[in-house]
Amino acid sequence: MVRHVAKFLLLIAVFIIAYMAIKNGVRRRDWQRQASGAITEDMVRCKLCGVHLPRSESLEFGDEYFCSEEHRRIAKK
Ligand SMILES: [Zn+2]
Repeated sequence: MVRHVAKFLLLIAVFIIAYMAIKNGVRRRDWQRQASGAITEDMVRCKLCGVHLPRSESLEFGDEYFCSEEHRRIAKK
């Protein structure tokens, strides 16, 4: 009888661990999707040559973006 209870408790423990692992996995996937979404959202286009680059690597000039100082200079001439 005691062995049966122990087995039953072990089974519950396994279910709880599996449930938590699945939950954590789903949360991690959501987080990754949000992270990659933020990266694609942060892409800007050079006004002169049209190349896509991360906003942090671009040169922002008002509401316009450029891939390099050279392109910014050419466009503003
Ligand atoms: Zn450019």
